[in-house]
Amino acid sequence: MVLYTPGQTTQYSSKDIKSGIQFHFLGGGNEVGNVGCVIEDSTGTRLLIDYGLAPTRPPKYPDECPPVSDVIITHSHIDHIGMAPWLTQHQNIRIHGTSLTADVSEIMWRDTYKVSSIEGYPLAWDKRDMEYALDSWYPHEYGEWFDVGAWKCRLHRAGHLPGAAMVEIKTPTQTILWSGDIDTRDSPNSFGAIPVECDILCLEGTYGGREHPDRPKEEEKLVKKVIDIVEKRGVALIPAFASGRGQDILMILHQHAPHLNVHFDGMGTRITTHWFNNPQHIRDPNRLQEMWRWVKRVSGKSDRKKALTADVIVTTSGMLDGGPALWYLNRLRHDLANEILLTGYQAEGSGGRKLLDEGKINIFRNLIQIDLEVTQFQLSNHAGHTELCNFARECMPKHLILFHAPDEGRNDIFSELGKEMKTHLPVNGRSIQIET
Ligand SMILES: [Zn+2]
Repeated sequence: MVLYTPGQTTQYSSKDIKSGIQFHFLGGGNEVGNVGCVIEDSTGTRLLIDYGLAPTRPPKYPDECPPVSDVIITHSHIDHIGMAPWLTQHQNIRIHGTSLTADVSEIMWRDTYKVSSIEGYPLAWDKRDMEYALDSWYPHEYGEWFDVGAWKCRLHRAGHLPGAAMVEIKTPTQTILWSGDIDTRDSPNSFGAIPVECDILCLEGTYGGREHPDRPKEEEKLVKKVIDIVEKRGVALIPAFASGRGQDILMILHQHAPHLNVHFDGMGTRITTHWFNNPQHIRDPNRLQEMWRWVKRVSGKSDRKKALTADVIVTTSGMLDGGPALWYLNRLRHDLANEILLTGYQAEGSGGRKLLDEGKINIFRNLIQIDLEVTQFQLSNHAGHTELCNFARECMPKHLILFHAPDEGRNDIFSELGKEMKTHLPVNGRSIQIET
């Protein structure tokens, strides 16, 4: 055990809850990512939602979780799922989520383990824990009720990526909706989230205070940029997340520029095969199949060399923190006809952020000047400020708990909704008590 002493480093109070419902954020309360929240009421039912780690360098971990019987994982991004294997170490636990999230979890956990070994970062779980965790999944379809203690729960589509879920919880007195990461807008591979009426809404606020540009126009801009690069005989390198964004970019290019020679490399190729096994989560499985036959999947070293002469390379990691994207960049950087297209937000401390701010990036531990043109597009899969506020209003809650947000973003949502509903701003490690 590297990080926690089980049962001794948890700050969670073991006192019984006399009344109301308690929310205790282990992480992701007043920050983006790294999510874990324990919800408990006077029935003695105690549920954990998400248990992730922020893949920063070094990674950031949530507080130690107190004993729980059940965890619901909203989606397969590492900041929501990365620490779940630890939970199986000292207790029998049921892990609930959609079948697609369960299927993708193995790839995500193996990659987390691999990256931590290569980088030499401590990880609180080992491969055996991961095997237990893989056997602990209880997959559910959207809308299907299941019991957790005295509560009834069901999952709803969250729109953030295929298989991502919101969680509706019915306690004997209250209905809670946990948004997970949401997008109410349709995207190439997923339909948007639909509001659910509730008493207490726990809403992510990643994009609080920020509005997105019109998505179809942003997609058009991306396609135009790619075509310009190809016309001057360059290669467009598009770093993108393995789960969601990468497949979205491929669908956009397939639809608007099918004449291009597009290669897809990285973990996303394996993740997409799970998408095909869970077609109920895909907006248009037939179109995804057509795209999949069209795109050239990179599966080995010789494929990778061939991809260097492609028109477009879509690959991980989305924030240029590792993966094949750096291998390609290291080879493409000498020809200034080539360009880099970033597809979304680049976190503080990430390779993509350094490239944008300083024109430099660490490649295989060497800091290298990159002279290629870099363009950033806003193709986020999170709801923007207006969509978040409208979603909250349509859920008609009495209480709003804003989590998974930067401080300014939360304050902007608070200023807009604070008069309409009782709004809470959780802090990691402290409990919020809502009387019912
Ligand atoms: Zn996410």
